[in-house]
Amino acid sequence: MAGRNMDPKKNPMPVQPPQERRRNFSEVALGYTSEQAASEAARCLRCKNKPCVEGCPVRIDIPAFLERAAQQDFSGAYEVISQSSSLPAVCGRVCPQETQCEARCVRGIKGEPVGIGRVERFAADWRAAHGAEAAVPAVAGEKAPRVAVIGSGPAGLSCAGELAKNGCAVTVYEALHTPGGVLVYGIPEFRLPKEIVRREIGALEELGVTVVTNAVAGRSFTIDELLEEYRAVFVGSGAGLPRFMGIPGENLKGVYSANEFLTRVNLMKAYEEGSPTPIQRPRRAVVVGGGNVAMDAARCALRLGAEEVSVVYRRSMEELPARAEEVEHAQEEGIVFRLLRNPVEIFGDQDGWAASVKCARMELGEPDASGRRRPVEVPGAFEEVPADCVIMAIGTSPNPLLTGTTPGLETQRWGGIVADETGRTSRKGVYAGGDAVTGAATVILAMGAGKTAAQAILEDLGRGVL
Ligand code: FAD
Ligand code: SF4
Ligand code: SF4
Repeated sequence: MAGRNMDPKKNPMPVQPPQERRRNFSEVALGYTSEQAASEAARCLRCKNKPCVEGCPVRIDIPAFLERAAQQDFSGAYEVISQSSSLPAVCGRVCPQETQCEARCVRGIKGEPVGIGRVERFAADWRAAHGAEAAVPAVAGEKAPRVAVIGSGPAGLSCAGELAKNGCAVTVYEALHTPGGVLVYGIPEFRLPKEIVRREIGALEELGVTVVTNAVAGRSFTIDELLEEYRAVFVGSGAGLPRFMGIPGENLKGVYSANEFLTRVNLMKAYEEGSPTPIQRPRRAVVVGGGNVAMDAARCALRLGAEEVSVVYRRSMEELPARAEEVEHAQEEGIVFRLLRNPVEIFGDQDGWAASVKCARMELGEPDASGRRRPVEVPGAFEEVPADCVIMAIGTSPNPLLTGTTPGLETQRWGGIVADETGRTSRKGVYAGGDAVTGAATVILAMGAGKTAAQAILEDLGRGVL
């Protein structure tokens, strides 16, 4: 067994210096070397009760993969991870590890937890760089049950992968022109290079999954029409419908939802020289919201060349919901945090473009239903922030297009599809999972839901799970 590393701190992750990266879209975190990955993995104590595994929504056998990584057997480490996760290179980068696996790590009691995500990322990248073995050849024969998947985000992809591995003929229908869901249109290149997502989708296609793009369920065809052709339909259509604040000035030019702004930048590569996608290159941008989406939008606006980018959030730094690492990176890059501020109006110039945002000052009152202290306006205290670009990142909900055209498919009041913990819905043969059911959540939870629903589909089709 490799020697144990009792350093209380994680091996630092090499990153691009803030002054360089604030103006480019290349990946910020550069990844470990093999020595750093092995040394980090050697910090694991191989706890018998494996508390970290409890914190991982897909229950990766974390000490087992870390043990192999500590011995520099990265192929073996990858094998262990891929038994439970179909997107390790993605999750190693974007999982909120600090609230999941690493939150339970016993090394975190007297120091920093083991950098589980960092080693996971290394193992996945190592495997890709050293020639992954060809995917298991397609096993779906002529009589294979046909299953349709709506949406190609992490929920749809993991459902499709699990079904294909178990002998189903799977077709994924995606509304956009490129598959990947939020992984391609939302999370920016500098946090998750799109090449990685393309690689994962390529592996699924090798398994025999067919991906049809520009196919909008609920418009091009209905779920009922799919059920005439397919034995089951999985809905993983996400929660991409943006919310706005309903304040005066939101219709001005230069005001975007975060989803639209990020889609133009990431999916349609608006930042590239010669790209046909129109995008405003902001001089002063204001991003409203405090989650990961707000951080991504702010950091994209900066990389488009903005002189000043502010995040306006109505609570304090303590309540900011974004990942600590992302907030730290944003601060290092020079993003200004205007905390305890809430926009009440956007003022425009004579050409109809946004010019400034009027913000009310807030203070924290008693805790609300979420347990967080409720922000309340300080009477008569306002400030005006100049902004030619205003990006709303205050949440999203599922698009009603699909549910509105599917009679008998039960939904929540806020639009989410009702599904039990196995992914079964109120309609026979229709399953659902991911953000379409839970509202905006995480990649790994969506993946877990897709996999669970695939198991329910296989059970209902009378097939065992391999
Ligand atoms: P999605 O990824 O939204 O995929 C749904 C797909 O369905 C989309 O491709 C959509 O085009 C398609 N679709 C929708 N309607 C139809 C239709 N009618 N017909 C056909 N196709 C349809 N999570 C993390 O864990 N870590 C992060 O760092 C993180 N950062 C984020 C940053 C941003 C900017 C955003 C927006 C989200 C972030 N998340 C993050 C959340 C995470 O990405 C989502 O929880 C996850 O992608 C949900 O997966 P999903 O498969 O349910 O839906
Ligand atoms: Fe941790 Fe996410 Fe990997 Fe699970 S998938 S071990 S939660 S980084
Ligand atoms: Fe290793 Fe931490 Fe898990 Fe223990 S809790 S097995 S130290 S990763």
